[in-house]
Amino acid sequence: MLKAQETVLEIDLKALKHNLEFIKSKLEENTKCLAVVKAFAYGSDTVEVAKCLETLNVDYFAVAYVNEGVALRDAGITRPILVLHPQVINFETLMERNLEPSLYSHRVLDTFINTVKKHKKDNYPVHIKFNTGLNRLGFVKEDVDSIVSKLKVTETIKVKSIFSHLAASEDKTEKDFTNGQIVSFKSISNQMVDGLGYKPMLHQCNTSGIMNYPEAHFDMVRCGIGLYGFGNNQEVNRNLKPVATLKTVISQIHTLNIGDSLGYNRAFVADRGTRTATLPIGHADGIGRQYGNEKGFVTINGQKASILGNVCMDMIMVDVTNIACKEGDEVVIFGQRNTAEHLAENVDSISYELLTAVSRRVKRTFNR
Ligand SMILES: *Cc1c(COP(=O)(O)O)cnc(C)c1O
Repeated sequence: MLKAQETVLEIDLKALKHNLEFIKSKLEENTKCLAVVKAFAYGSDTVEVAKCLETLNVDYFAVAYVNEGVALRDAGITRPILVLHPQVINFETLMERNLEPSLYSHRVLDTFINTVKKHKKDNYPVHIKFNTGLNRLGFVKEDVDSIVSKLKVTETIKVKSIFSHLAASEDKTEKDFTNGQIVSFKSISNQMVDGLGYKPMLHQCNTSGIMNYPEAHFDMVRCGIGLYGFGNNQEVNRNLKPVATLKTVISQIHTLNIGDSLGYNRAFVADRGTRTATLPIGHADGIGRQYGNEKGFVTINGQKASILGNVCMDMIMVDVTNIACKEGDEVVIFGQRNTAEHLAENVDSISYELLTAVSRRVKRTFNR
């Protein structure tokens, strides 16, 4: 890769391929792999990442919202796309673009059946979501009979899968809770299969579930963060490669004398001679204000430089007092060595939040 001359997010598609291969090595031969590409493929780039994954033969894609599915169809993606959290106002668009809804309540189920009726279609593929303990989205086990009775009297929709989501799959101390979710999902899906008279696909695992609960892989797994290089666990991380590297450059260097202040609200005041570098990246680019005041850091010529004072909209200032560097030098915010997970930990955040925050105005480049 060339040295960065502006703020760029480098996307390493070779690392993506490596991560997919590692995840697939954890699956049985015929377990399907769904790639979660919501939120611009975890902040990277929806189109390039989905196209790459399609050529690598993932079986399914998932996004959170209908407009994200539309973007995939516009890009020419032809694989099935599960929309995890559709809103009824978008059902027409969802059908027009051949997207497959997660149906998570009777309101959503009824509205969807009516939409399909209006279009005079039948056997439209849908996915029934059950809540087994996350208490976020989904039918509960008491709904099985009423769902089945509705489905028995309509040809409009066909259940392609039944699924649920784990609440704490990365947390070994919550093993009992997670096992309870798995038992509950098995019982619900058995009842559904009995009622429907056919067997849809079953799936329950996200990345950490894939790693920690192989007995819960069922017919398909839903992999998000693992594809992008993080496994919520040191040992898994060693086998994965972060896909995104956020880089920038030094715009200008300043020298502060004792008592000089830096940035908005004079949040930093020098208590010794201090050399600072101003970088063209700020909270509008995804480096939140919580990273200011020495909570966050960047890497310049292999050395750690703390963020001084408040994060501005378009700039941060970092401490380069003890770092040999000059204007125009490359700066790494996070990447394969100083990872997004590590940086996020400093502010009690997680890789997911930092990655998905990188804003659209940051240019994406690709290593193919
Ligand atoms: C986001 C999401 C996933 C992916 O989770 P990771 O931890 O990133 O692998 C899977 N399933 C559902 C329902 C999700 O919302």
